[in-house]
Amino acid sequence: MARYTDASCRLCRRESQKLFLKGERCYSVKCALEKRNYAPGQHGQNRKKISDYGLQLREKQKAKRFYGLLETQFRNTFEKAAKKKGITGENLLVMLETRMDNVVFRMGFASSRKEARQLVTHGHFLVNGKKLDIPSAHVKPGSVVKVKEKSHNSPKFKEIKDMSISVPAWITVNVEKLEGSVLALPRREEIDTPIAEHLIVELYSK
Ligand code: SF4
Repeated sequence: MARYTDASCRLCRRESQKLFLKGERCYSVKCALEKRNYAPGQHGQNRKKISDYGLQLREKQKAKRFYGLLETQFRNTFEKAAKKKGITGENLLVMLETRMDNVVFRMGFASSRKEARQLVTHGHFLVNGKKLDIPSAHVKPGSVVKVKEKSHNSPKFKEIKDMSISVPAWITVNVEKLEGSVLALPRREEIDTPIAEHLIVELYSK
């Protein structure tokens, strides 16, 4: 499976926005954006005025990086979102939010989407009683996501049992049982990702 392997903090600096790619570190003073809030590279501090196209492109790059998708995966998701009924931009965000890796992250079973992807790939989760190790799979409303019994004793999940986790309204979690449910598809106002999705739609509609 192809994945992005460059330094995560450079991506945040490129977008001038925290993308929360490194778990705990993102919430600490060690966050690279706290010290160097300008684009990486030699000319990072000399940014010129950005065109409309540039704005649309940056928004797409930001969304892609936020959810950890590569270009083709992101484009394919957009194409599927465009074929669905409703508003394409919102459909896109809902599809990104209901990916298995994002759901695991939202449930608090991982400190970042990157870690969630790894945990999913390593087969730590069951969905409705069946193993699901595909990060891009979509979790439907009514589904129960559970940490496999065998994995309960791993230090990672033991630690989670002692944590208090806050989740969005479309999800519930039982931390002691290490399981959660997707109650419904998220509504736009329940998705806190700082993305102006209409700019992505404009970009791909050219
Ligand atoms: Fe981004 Fe996290 Fe790195 Fe800060 S620490 S720049 S939020 S990946």
